[in-house]
Amino acid sequence: MRKEANIILAKCKKDQLYGIRIEKRDNDWVRTWAFALKEEMAQKEGFDKTNFTGNFYTDEEYPGCPYCGAKKCFVCGKCGKVNCYESGSRVICGWCGASGKASNDGESIDVSGGGF
Ligand SMILES: [Zn+2]
Ligand SMILES: [Zn+2]
Repeated sequence: MRKEANIILAKCKKDQLYGIRIEKRDNDWVRTWAFALKEEMAQKEGFDKTNFTGNFYTDEEYPGCPYCGAKKCFVCGKCGKVNCYESGSRVICGWCGASGKASNDGESIDVSGGGF
């Protein structure tokens, strides 16, 4: 069976960049690995161009963010990029600065306009 895998970029709250390896299983993406990454490297490899659609799950083996250890992340409702999710109902996107309320599963946020 051929595996389809990709690397997507994510940001930790301290503005640290990292890559997440995602693997396609059925029609969903599963996060299987995370590693620290430098911005120049990400651009060189084209990781910043990766797009994905479908649901986004965490594998049991997923080690979490290399900086803060967070296993959950959220996808910003405004710019569509991935950030570490820390517990608490309010999240701020490290990419575009949008803030919003995290949904219960911590996988996505709704960003309402205004205030920035
Ligand atoms: Zn983190
Ligand atoms: Zn954003």
